Amino acid sequence: MNGGYGDDETGDDVEVPSETHTVCVLCGGGGLIADPKLAIIGGVPRTVDNGRPCPHCQTVGHFPGIVPPV
Ligand SMILES: [Zn+2]
Repeated sequence: MNGGYGDDETGDDVEVPSETHTVCVLCGGGGLIADPKLAIIGGVPRTVDNGRPCPHCQTVGHFPGIVPPV
């Protein structure tokens, strides 16, 4: 009942071509947008850059498929 299973053809493994996606033009793929702000901390003015989630891609950084730049 154990048929010969020696014909191991692994060469037929088709690799999925690199998924087509479009990098978010707003954040450049990082998912976050630099958002430097001037803040007074301890009486010292300094620049705070927490970054904020990209509203365009929801921090994903890219979109599936091809999205033409707006
Ligand atoms: Zn984005």
